[in-house]
Amino acid sequence: STPAAITSGLAAATRRGALIKGGAALEALSKVDAVAFDKTGTLTQGKPEVTDIIVWKGEEDAFLANVSGIEVGSHHPLATALVSHTKQLGITPRHAENRNAQAGEGVSGNVDGKHIQVIALDKLPVTMKLTQKKQSIADGIAAQGKTVAIAYVDQEPFGLIAWRDVLREGAQSSVSALSQMGIQSIMLTGDNATAASAMAGKLGMGFRASLYPEHKVAEVEKLARQQTVAMIGDGINDAPAMKAATVGIAMGSGTDVALETADISLSHSRIEDLPEVIGLAKATMSNVR
Ligand code: ADP
Ligand code: MG
Repeated sequence: STPAAITSGLAAATRRGALIKGGAALEALSKVDAVAFDKTGTLTQGKPEVTDIIVWKGEEDAFLANVSGIEVGSHHPLATALVSHTKQLGITPRHAENRNAQAGEGVSGNVDGKHIQVIALDKLPVTMKLTQKKQSIADGIAAQGKTVAIAYVDQEPFGLIAWRDVLREGAQSSVSALSQMGIQSIMLTGDNATAASAMAGKLGMGFRASLYPEHKVAEVEKLARQQTVAMIGDGINDAPAMKAATVGIAMGSGTDVALETADISLSHSRIEDLPEVIGLAKATMSNVR
């Protein structure tokens, strides 16, 4: 039977908004010595806004209509932000065909028989490299902590889109609270290294950037060879990495897939509940032993 201390520890966690799926998860949580964080939607609010549009071919209106046309229907927060930015300017996204999302990378599709691609700055194929001048403009924008993608029309650079996402309130205090408990924090992101480094630096944590979803799994597995690892995320893409961790934690506002996979969910989506609930797990387990 479950020791009374564990039962009351689980109840106390629930009162704080942390739903823990059983005593084993609580015990694992008490031993965590590294936490891997997804960036978008976990450390950040996950509501990016379009900040920069640079057009290299034609007019801005046509650019936005074309590029938004291929982003329509994508559930990625970057896509949602671009489409609403376009509509707010009174521009209607063009009808697109053969729309396709490339996980961790971008989207593509055809408008008017032209092939449009939107690709993350750090994932441009070698055959589609930018000129030095365009590259340095893009790098400068990424250095402001922004997510940057390059749009192509029939493989030619079409323009640049940048988004900014705001850090969650409590992200910084959570990382430092964990550090005081002797727990290492690391950011795992598909975003570019320049933006990731700017954010991770602010938070005082390590990072791995330019990752595809399967790379996030590999990073968690690597950490898990030496340490007891928790992975916290909110998206569909985060579920495999959450599974690879000793403890998977979902932000309460996350997708159903993330919530199902998780051993623990933070139902109020407050990142600062994480160090609290780890502290609670440690206190509970010290009563059991
Ligand atoms: P994260 O690690 O933040 O969850 P993803 O793995 O979803 O990021 O995507 C990695 C990168 O690929 C994004 O930072 C962005 O540059 C690019 N990207 C992915 N999907 C899209 C999209 N629909 N539109 C534009 N860019 C995208
Ligand atoms: Mg994500």
